[in-house]
Amino acid sequence: MTAETAADVPTDPSCLFCKIVAGEIPAEVVHTTERTVAFRDIAPKAPLHVLVVPREHQPDAAAIAESNPLATAEMVTAARAVAIAEGHDDYRLVFNTGAGAGQTVFHAHLHLLAGGDLPFAAG
Ligand code: AMP
Repeated sequence: MTAETAADVPTDPSCLFCKIVAGEIPAEVVHTTERTVAFRDIAPKAPLHVLVVPREHQPDAAAIAESNPLATAEMVTAARAVAIAEGHDDYRLVFNTGAGAGQTVFHAHLHLLAGGDLPFAAG
């Protein structure tokens, strides 16, 4: 087993998304990879709204990018796989970072949004 395998990565037993990754809290999981888990957002803001999270616990996108670049890249490619599987060639990816920017869960997560009018438009 290498340091990149899921069993070795840091987790936080008090973290909501770590509990979803571990299967301790139910979620509608739509895609998994060695380093990521994707599940439907409980309060969808678009017809397709999925969260892609690293199995490793890091508080935000920059932290997981520093700690585990492979997992971070896999989050993006996993999001693409989910979008395509659900019939969307066009989609939006969002990392809210910090409470002031709307982050409410401090385990890095990539919002995959597609279909209809998408929130978080930059302009
Ligand atoms: P953020 O506001 O960027 O931190 O995003 C956190 C997201 O997690 C929100 O869109 C919530 O709706 C979503 N969320 C919170 N709890 C759950 C849960 N138990 N299962 C799925 N999504 C959740």
